[in-house]
Amino acid sequence: MQRGIKLEQHKAESLLHPVQELPDAAGLPPPKFFRAPKGRPDWEAVLRAAEEAEITDEFEDVPLAEKLRRMRRAGVSLALACCVDEDPYTTSAMAALREQTDGVIAGLALAARACGAKKSEIAVADRREKKEILRRSPEAKLVVAGTRYPARALLRRSLQAEGGKAAFVGAQACAALAAAVSRGEAQHDAIVTVAGSGVEIPRNVRVRIGTPLRHLLDFCGVHERTRLIVTGSSVTGRAVTDPSVPVTAATRCVIAMLRPPRYKTYACIGCGRCSRACPRGIVPWRIYQEMERSRPDPLKLLNARSCIDCASCSMICPSGLDLAAAVKRAAAIMESGDLH
Ligand code: SF4
Ligand code: SF4
Repeated sequence: MQRGIKLEQHKAESLLHPVQELPDAAGLPPPKFFRAPKGRPDWEAVLRAAEEAEITDEFEDVPLAEKLRRMRRAGVSLALACCVDEDPYTTSAMAALREQTDGVIAGLALAARACGAKKSEIAVADRREKKEILRRSPEAKLVVAGTRYPARALLRRSLQAEGGKAAFVGAQACAALAAAVSRGEAQHDAIVTVAGSGVEIPRNVRVRIGTPLRHLLDFCGVHERTRLIVTGSSVTGRAVTDPSVPVTAATRCVIAMLRPPRYKTYACIGCGRCSRACPRGIVPWRIYQEMERSRPDPLKLLNARSCIDCASCSMICPSGLDLAAAVKRAAAIMESGDLH
């Protein structure tokens, strides 16, 4: 069964041009530097450098050092640099890899050392991207994730079916780790895709972390009739109401929409698309039904905790039901044990 869903991608335009530099907003502190490790650092020295450089993994929004330690404890055998932007519009990971191919390769090797993974590969979206990267760096070890959403979870699932444990490290976090170890440079900027119907020229912009979002929106000429701004991911990201919030390492994209999508909901028609789409083998409609009851049966909510919150089920549902929210609520109930 082919899991995941096919989404319109809208990516080509933002990849047409090189990454642009956003001039610094007033009042930002200068970039920080620290003493880089000498020689070939061992895994502990790499983790210390990740800590000192305050690197955040842009996909999980967690400190990179913490994530690598978790991967080490879990016995990860394959470290993957995530250069796949699975959500529509966003191309910041692809742009980071195209712009800093050597940095991502070097950073991935360091991340693999730090987490104890024996193998490392760069995950790219499709064959065309693979060709593009091989043209820049013929030595790169690449694996194609595919363009069905959620591509990362689907790739991980298929790689793990072959044995071993695979885990992703963000492309930008990899490049930042290489800069930290080679130059003692702290992470101070992020590549952000600015796109959507409220943006005339979609593009990728290098932004100093801490820059107010408004500064970036002004630079990109975001239309004043924009009604919805989403950051983090165009599918599962969060809506921003205050444009003074700072850009973080995990901002990844700013999607500005002139017209927010309107959802009408209908009763479930039993088509089963939600369960076919789910990358974790959950049956979302069953959990949704159970959560509609005043006293849900915990036995019927058991696998809700394996949900990765990708929202594929909600996106595919022809009845417009927010199944992902119901599964998330069910998972929270199972976690807390509070069924009333
Ligand atoms: S949000 Fe959860 S239940 Fe829905 S498709 Fe994704 S993993 Fe499955
Ligand atoms: S996709 Fe929607 S309509 Fe189809 S089975 Fe799932 S909940 Fe029901």
